[in-house]
Amino acid sequence: MPGKSRLNVPGKITLAYGSGGRLTHELVSGLFARAFANKALAELADSAVIKAGRERLAFTTDGYVVSPLFFPGGDIGKLAVCGTVNDLAVKGARPLALSASFIIEEGFDGELLGKVVLSMKAAAAEAGVDIVTGDTKVVDKGKADGLFISTAGVGLIPAGRDLSFGALRTGDELIISGPLGDHGVAVMNERNKLGLSGLKSDCAPLNGLAEKALAAGEVRAMRDLTRGGLATALNEAASSSGLAVELEEEKVPVSPVTANACALLGLDPLYAANEGKMMLFCPPASSAKVLRALRSHRYGRGAVIAGRVLGKGGEVSLRTAVGGSRLLRMLEGEQLPRIC
Ligand code: MG
Repeated sequence: MPGKSRLNVPGKITLAYGSGGRLTHELVSGLFARAFANKALAELADSAVIKAGRERLAFTTDGYVVSPLFFPGGDIGKLAVCGTVNDLAVKGARPLALSASFIIEEGFDGELLGKVVLSMKAAAAEAGVDIVTGDTKVVDKGKADGLFISTAGVGLIPAGRDLSFGALRTGDELIISGPLGDHGVAVMNERNKLGLSGLKSDCAPLNGLAEKALAAGEVRAMRDLTRGGLATALNEAASSSGLAVELEEEKVPVSPVTANACALLGLDPLYAANEGKMMLFCPPASSAKVLRALRSHRYGRGAVIAGRVLGKGGEVSLRTAVGGSRLLRMLEGEQLPRIC
């Protein structure tokens, strides 16, 4: 057990510590992972893998603080179910059960709470999982912003599945399941009343899509692309595998409305949040089969191969349309606070 002196305790917590980018990473690895030090946590994966007799369970938890609570394509309830289901799914787990904990501000409209709950019910039904336990707290007016939800989930990992960035090999191909950035710009448009039309969050449960991919061919690792976007997830893949990853800029799918909104708002779709997209790494012999399977599913129609694993390195490079190459780093600072 490391001593307390080795904990990396930050000064004041700024919004950037919740961005999912570099500072979140530093906080998690320097404080939480060091203090709680154990093998399951050390992986810092979407879900921890724990043994229960002969079975392996995936276990995950997330807090949801999105503002506003409702946005085109979803709301905090749908997000709370999908986000947790997706963290189980990308570890190859089949969701078994979820919990839901509600922190409600005094005075919150009961009808809105009802809407959120029905939306959670619908998302859970689509994912084929029950919400089996929970908790309710109400705090004084002004001590929370309407409603926060925390969900946890457990899933069963079928025998033989062992997905992790440690399994990546030189030559593996990178697949992105569809157009990037829709969630981030849809929430920002709604929050700031920017009035841009056609934007819609991609929020969706991805366990069906993940199962299709895994049935089609060998998949080494998957990750859902949430805060910090593709660029941050790729950096996590590169640093945990110790291998360099190359992304081809012109292959990266972005819908025209989202690309236009990103340009207007000064956002980079490679760093913008998604809630219904994932990246997958497959050996070259499997990638075409996996790609076909993804494209046959409603949440994977826009899937593309967009990069590959190079040799030793641990960094991510972006090969630009004109043939140049530059380093693609983890999200710095805070692009959009309270996006999920
Ligand atoms: Mg995740």
